[in-house]
Amino acid sequence: MEEKVVEICRELIQIDSRNWGLGESSGERAAADYVFEKLTQMGLSPFRVGPSPDRTSVLCEVVGKNPDAEKIVLHAHLDVVPFDESEWLYHPLSAEVVDDVIYGRGAVDMKNGVAMILAALAELIKNNWQPNNSLLLAFFADEEAGGILGSHWVVDNQRDFFEGAKFAVGEVGGFSTSLAGGVRLYLIETAQKGIAWMKLNAKGTAGHGSMINNDNAVTEIASAVSRISSHKFPLTLHESVLTLLEETALITKTDFDPKDPEKTADLLIGLSKIVKATFRDTANPTMLSGGYKANVIPSEASAVIDGRFLPGNQNDFISTIKSLAGEKIDIEFQNLDVALSAPFDEVIVNSMIEAISAEDPAARVVPYMLSGGTDAKALSKLNIAGYGFMPLQLPNDLDFASLFHGKNERVPISSLQFGVRTFKRFLASL
Ligand SMILES: [Zn+2]
Repeated sequence: MEEKVVEICRELIQIDSRNWGLGESSGERAAADYVFEKLTQMGLSPFRVGPSPDRTSVLCEVVGKNPDAEKIVLHAHLDVVPFDESEWLYHPLSAEVVDDVIYGRGAVDMKNGVAMILAALAELIKNNWQPNNSLLLAFFADEEAGGILGSHWVVDNQRDFFEGAKFAVGEVGGFSTSLAGGVRLYLIETAQKGIAWMKLNAKGTAGHGSMINNDNAVTEIASAVSRISSHKFPLTLHESVLTLLEETALITKTDFDPKDPEKTADLLIGLSKIVKATFRDTANPTMLSGGYKANVIPSEASAVIDGRFLPGNQNDFISTIKSLAGEKIDIEFQNLDVALSAPFDEVIVNSMIEAISAEDPAARVVPYMLSGGTDAKALSKLNIAGYGFMPLQLPNDLDFASLFHGKNERVPISSLQFGVRTFKRFLASL
């Protein structure tokens, strides 16, 4: 199993499944066929679904012993984000192994996870294992463009497949981070911020750039963007964030002040930029456009804001943005998706904790909130509670957060092998 996981991860990286966005041809089909083949070889009965032949997701049920038990979704995505190969040490599709580290696009996001699921399942099935709870495997296309042609399409069009499911286990959680004193903290994702990508449009009166103009669309949009980006949303510590910070302070024997949590977040080194982003709602301007000539005032100008709100804050967030933007700005939502929050105190989370602790007895396992989003948002439409758990024991000096969509994305082989052993223990307990 520990050799298999490396082989599968490398083979998946070598399949070009870059997601080029809506309306573009993307390469998930080959990755879907690969996964389909692997599941078939295990004696399972996978099937392929999707809105078009090149945007394929794979679904497959592993029937449990107890038909009345809640079903559990295990999901991963098949696509990866594009890259600029000139920035990389090794070609991102070569899956080069250097010093026991696999380099390649998808090494952490998330062909590693697909490989762990497949390798652990194959090993268990080979040994005649059958889970108590039925497992619903879902390998989605299109996660990297918001899942419209992947998880959202599948959830909307294959509803029956998910009947009876209560929990989902997917990406961005279960990885370790080392604190001072060598204590390893493992973070299980129990919450996600919501997404609001907003296009702000300003209309004004066009005219000559040399003359007086009090109705300038460029001025209007620039002021709105400035008001929004300089606004500091109120500090609100969700229970998952609070638990993470309290535990961090306890382990490091430092004081934690809930009114000034930045200091404690800094102790989480590479993860601090994610953790700090979960202290409050955020709104970052990401695009700006307007005008076509130096001496012409245009009648329109626009900006895009990447807004992220905490669980429970969606309405307040949107009304704050509207009032900051002002009456003259029209707001169009390009992507509006829910925030998530699932309890840490659940049997399925205990199974994750036990699996991690069996492989790393000194581990401390805590909840955390992801500042971004995953396919768990689509599954939440069916009232399925999502958790992020694709375990990895990471070296102290690896800046893990920066590897997602980053250059030289890579995963140490020992991390991946720790992950597959832990994931197998987790599956065996279901
Ligand atoms: Zn991902």
